[in-house]
Amino acid sequence: MHVYLDNAATTRLHPEVLEAMLPYMKDFCGNPSSVHADGRKAKVAIEKARKQVAELLNAAPAEIFFTSGGTEGNNMAFHGLLAKTQTQHIITSRLEHHAVLEPLKYLAETGQIQLSYVALDRQGRIQYDYLEELLQRYPVPLVSLMHANNEIGNFNDLERIGSLCKAYKAFLHTDAVQTIGHCSLDLQALPVDMAVGSAHKFHGPPGIGLLFIRSGTPVAPLLLGGAQERNMRGGTENVPAIVGLSKALELAYRDLAEDRAYIQGLKDRMIQGLKDRIPGVDFNGMSAEAEASLYTILNVSLPPADSYEMLVFNLDIKQISASVGSACASGSQKVSHVLQALEFDTRRGNIRLSFSKDNTAEEIDYVAEQLAALCPKPRS
Ligand code: PLP
Repeated sequence: MHVYLDNAATTRLHPEVLEAMLPYMKDFCGNPSSVHADGRKAKVAIEKARKQVAELLNAAPAEIFFTSGGTEGNNMAFHGLLAKTQTQHIITSRLEHHAVLEPLKYLAETGQIQLSYVALDRQGRIQYDYLEELLQRYPVPLVSLMHANNEIGNFNDLERIGSLCKAYKAFLHTDAVQTIGHCSLDLQALPVDMAVGSAHKFHGPPGIGLLFIRSGTPVAPLLLGGAQERNMRGGTENVPAIVGLSKALELAYRDLAEDRAYIQGLKDRMIQGLKDRIPGVDFNGMSAEAEASLYTILNVSLPPADSYEMLVFNLDIKQISASVGSACASGSQKVSHVLQALEFDTRRGNIRLSFSKDNTAEEIDYVAEQLAALCPKPRS
């Protein structure tokens, strides 16, 4: 049996998404910037996609910008806002994805901003009082806090963070790469200024994402060289991928309630299956708490042993694809920056299992069985 449990890294392209994209790859379609009929056809496809994405997220079409993915969206948000405002301070968390932490560290190291990190507890929960202290201390900062964590699944309370940001006139950016397409988001109501999504996390194609910029938020372009995306992102648009993103989002939200219940069921089955088979198993962050974590992610903490060095590879031999930490850290057995921030006991083993609607109960049982077999036997 081959089991793919690395859906937080990337998801399988939905066949209907491929079907929607194919005409824009097989049949000729012009450059969307060209004024002739072939160009206009491509332009219409992009604007139709933008309108649909905006409707699904309850935003205005003018607030949606297509990017090459989550990494670009985050970089554009930071560089773009700094170019247009007096912001000199950014508040973030040590649990953010590298696509947030690396650009922010670069901006700090090159003297463009000062960077502060919110305090967290051992489960990775934000200490909101400390966030408020930071907001009091630094004028007009940008706060960047993700919606749900890609390793431990913890939700941050964007309503609460957003109202604090409003009270202190701070900008709020959120990396919503793990939640756009998995949780319903009403961007009109949610108090965020910028939000980032990525299609390959919700059964769309890789290399395409979106950046929501609330109307009136001052943001300069990151990529110069053309008038595309209303002068906000130079470069010929990837029409098939944009069409694919919008189709994937449509399907994700059409089936959300059903998929969510099904996937949460798989996650619950895995939690129980591991508890039944592995004495001393635990779960990192809030990932075992249904309300406090994303239903697609479970971060498993295995009882202390010397034999975890090759865990991902040993699972791979059993035809199981899973990872430790984020995709970029896969393969290396180093404790991820997220688990380091949670002061993870390095004698324990760690594996992130992330689920999708393509997984089955039999797969869950097989993985629980195989993981148990790789754990040290308790002394009798
Ligand atoms: N942010 C988060 C939370 C992610 O999980 C990822 C992907 O792993 C990214 C950003 C990067 O997105 P992309 O692969 O589309 O650049």
